[in-house]
Amino acid sequence: MNKWPVHASWNGPIVMIGFGSIGRGTLPLILRHIECDKSKITVIDPSAIWRHLLEKQGIKFIQQEISKRNYKTVLKPLLTEGPGQALIVNLTVDVCSIDIIRFAHETNSLYLDTVNEPWPGFYYNTKLDNADRTNYAVREQLRTLRKQLVTGPTAVSCCGANPGMVSWLVKQAMLDMARDMKIAVKEPATREGWARLMKRLGIKGIHIAERDTQRAKNPKPLDVFINTWSVDGFISEGLQPAELGWGTHEKKLPFDGRRHKTGCGAAIYLNRAGADTRVRTWVPTAGAQFGLLVTHNEAISISDYFTVRKGNSVIYRPTCHYAYHPSNDAVLSVLEMFGKGGKRQTTSHILEEHEIVDGGDELGVFLYGHRNNAYWYGSQLSIDEARKLAPYQNATGMQVTSAVLAGLVWAIENPRAGIVETEEMDFHRCLEVQTPYLGILNGVYTDWTPLQGRGKFFEEKLDRKDPWQFSNIIVR
Ligand code: NAD
Repeated sequence: MNKWPVHASWNGPIVMIGFGSIGRGTLPLILRHIECDKSKITVIDPSAIWRHLLEKQGIKFIQQEISKRNYKTVLKPLLTEGPGQALIVNLTVDVCSIDIIRFAHETNSLYLDTVNEPWPGFYYNTKLDNADRTNYAVREQLRTLRKQLVTGPTAVSCCGANPGMVSWLVKQAMLDMARDMKIAVKEPATREGWARLMKRLGIKGIHIAERDTQRAKNPKPLDVFINTWSVDGFISEGLQPAELGWGTHEKKLPFDGRRHKTGCGAAIYLNRAGADTRVRTWVPTAGAQFGLLVTHNEAISISDYFTVRKGNSVIYRPTCHYAYHPSNDAVLSVLEMFGKGGKRQTTSHILEEHEIVDGGDELGVFLYGHRNNAYWYGSQLSIDEARKLAPYQNATGMQVTSAVLAGLVWAIENPRAGIVETEEMDFHRCLEVQTPYLGILNGVYTDWTPLQGRGKFFEEKLDRKDPWQFSNIIVR
């Protein structure tokens, strides 16, 4: 008998595209918590190295690269074989989310991904203007599609840990802060209500503040890019321009900052690679630290969601960006790669759970600039605990796959929601499903500001009137 709580059930086909580090970790969680028929699950991946894991479970595997040319012919028979609706979980790099969502709509299938992925060629296209190589541009395509497909089967966009879970954490953190400030609030029921609450709490901005301390048994050799999740995914986003949701409290655009000419207007980009851009941030265990300003969908979607407008004018918006301190080996890998002008190492490697000695992943939201200075709320998950919780994943993977599980459960429970971003989902329900996999869910205030320890030895141009200006946060 299944000793795990069953959160939902699904009769139809389940098609998982991509069986990399996240796919391998997600599958056992689906089998644990979603009642389904194993014989109706198909996994598609061009690489067969993990085929044995599927054979062991009696799950169908198709060794195939999904491309712009073949996606309809490969997917259609799988999605329409019945009984009933199909469910697509897109956990690849290089399989275009927009096209698969459109096809999911045509075949009345539910859909979820963890990144809004383009087809190959986009990330490294030197002919594209930097503005067009941003996640802002990719998200605008999703917004356009959403206007076309007003209703229909649920398609959850960008539902991993970040993007994904962090948007649920923001809402919970806001309720914690209101409680601690003794502000009596009724939990908002609309986007506008949430945005007004954020304004009322006086939040100037949000870092998605992460520290990955997982240490490998063997030190990183030269010419190998090591990471705790997709190397392909990290390199491609790391070489995109740095991007951030741009708050209304910011006084001045950074010198290499650019606004977009069209679209929602919630974000800017910098004319430099995100993984080569450092920012000052804070997490509970390490305290103050540098993070990388790697572009992420949530930096844009959170800023957009929490915007307050009066008529056509924006009167409030938080700054929001990722501030990522990856594992030590990944930091060395990034340094090595940029030292060679962005040329990728010959070999890539994702650390599996048995290759890690100790450490964990501390991933949360850091809401700053308010009356209580700054509040970090998030997951502190050690590798030891991750190993006990579920197979085939490290601590980073566990934070992602449990968000995928939560997103799938929500999609099954809300099958006609159309295209949604994670800010629009029921964060209570999603965190209820996910929390058992997050280690400690902790909320911590700090008096740290990006001015701490600055200007002692060297003159720096600092805005001392407002510590929370982005100009104080970015490392020049
Ligand atoms: P991975 O590199 O370990 O695996 C990707 C898999 O996709 C590989 O097995 C690869 O063979 C397969 N693949 C590549 N091209 C394909 C194609 N055309 N058709 C079918 N399969 C293809 O990556 P991962 O760590 O499993 O990450 C998967 C996705 O999740 C990536 O987009 C990554 O950026 C994203 N991700 C999101 C979060 C989040 O928190 N939102 C966190 C980690 C990873």
